[in-house]
Amino acid sequence: MPAFSERLQKIKPTIFSHMTNLANQHGAINLSQGFPDFDGPDFIKNAAIEAIRGDKNQYAPSAGIQELREAIVDKYKRFYGLEYDSAKEVTVVSGATEAIFSTMFALLNPGDEVILFEPCYDAYLALCHFTGAVPKFIRLHSPNFAFNLEDLKNAMTSRTKCLVINTPHNPSGKLFSKKELEDIGKLSMDNDCFIITDEVYEHITYEKNHVPMATFPRFRDHVITISSTAKTFSFTGWKIGYLLAPEDISKQIRLVHQFVTFSTATPLQHAMIEAFRAPSSYYDALKSDYWKKRDLLGSILQEAGFKTILPEGSYYIVTDISEFTTMNDLEFCEFLIKDVGVAAIPMSPFYCEESSITNLVRFCFAKQDDVLINAGRRLKSLREKLNS
Ligand code: PMP
Ligand code: GLN
Repeated sequence: MPAFSERLQKIKPTIFSHMTNLANQHGAINLSQGFPDFDGPDFIKNAAIEAIRGDKNQYAPSAGIQELREAIVDKYKRFYGLEYDSAKEVTVVSGATEAIFSTMFALLNPGDEVILFEPCYDAYLALCHFTGAVPKFIRLHSPNFAFNLEDLKNAMTSRTKCLVINTPHNPSGKLFSKKELEDIGKLSMDNDCFIITDEVYEHITYEKNHVPMATFPRFRDHVITISSTAKTFSFTGWKIGYLLAPEDISKQIRLVHQFVTFSTATPLQHAMIEAFRAPSSYYDALKSDYWKKRDLLGSILQEAGFKTILPEGSYYIVTDISEFTTMNDLEFCEFLIKDVGVAAIPMSPFYCEESSITNLVRFCFAKQDDVLINAGRRLKSLREKLNS
């Protein structure tokens, strides 16, 4: 057989697919892959059904249905006071995953350097491999996942093309502070770098509010904001994402997007127009529901003996397993599935060298309360099973 693309040499099946498959195989409660085990609201489902029945089933314009782009612009004005041009600066794509692909593909040449904050969501590194760009990692140090500004200054060179930030951050749950964003922005301007900001968990925050990178006016013309309806409206399977960027950047990203998917599912875009019109009470309920779940799973994990790091945003809790086992994170997660019946995500795949941090495990709490409570019952046997 002829050889496959060298671009794939460093690409493996994702840890999310691996853990979910293993969980299903062993009948474990799946607190690994980040998706809710409940659907989003009926009014959005009904809008999708109506759109399908109303014959809105052919290709949408490549950049997205204009009315949806306007609804996205309204949302950014309403929540953050930001102004965007719906025709030129907003693009609807098939999930934040496609947004990351199309953006990084549009910006990067082989040899360009990209700053990533680790632990980091897996797609950014994959895009470095696809494009031939060189990742430079800045460590976010647990337990509060702060970074050292000197590390960032030292990592930036004349070849640095862009930084990727993710706030609220997956997997750590960190919210980048205003000061951190300002420091990152200033350095990026000094080095004339793009800033890609993945904000898919923007509406799932707790004690503090999310600060979008684009709210700093002086960085704005270098910022590409990526978000998704997946987490905000609990329809991860619909894959409706979007990106906002100045016209000249959007134009380039759209050139890639037209050959990745061309356009995104038309009836689902229509449904999302309704979703974006949801009143503030929808967003308040989203936050308070997840807050209760965060605290519920937090206490379940603590009772089971885990040292927990509660998130400021997102729907994940990071735990430190080093106090009660000498297993590494992957071994521990496999044991947890097979012997205890609960699935979680080992965090070493989110680090540049997978062997470097092996004591952190992520649990997802976007699950119904009885599922979380049931997981708690199973986790009660953890210590005994570890000692047997
Ligand atoms: N970025 C981050 C940080 C994520 O956690 C995810 C998973 N929801 C994505 C991007 C991908 O989002 P989507 O499902 O919209 O492709
Ligand atoms: N974002 C989800 C997570 O962090 C996974 C999405 C995926 O499986 N690609 O668990």
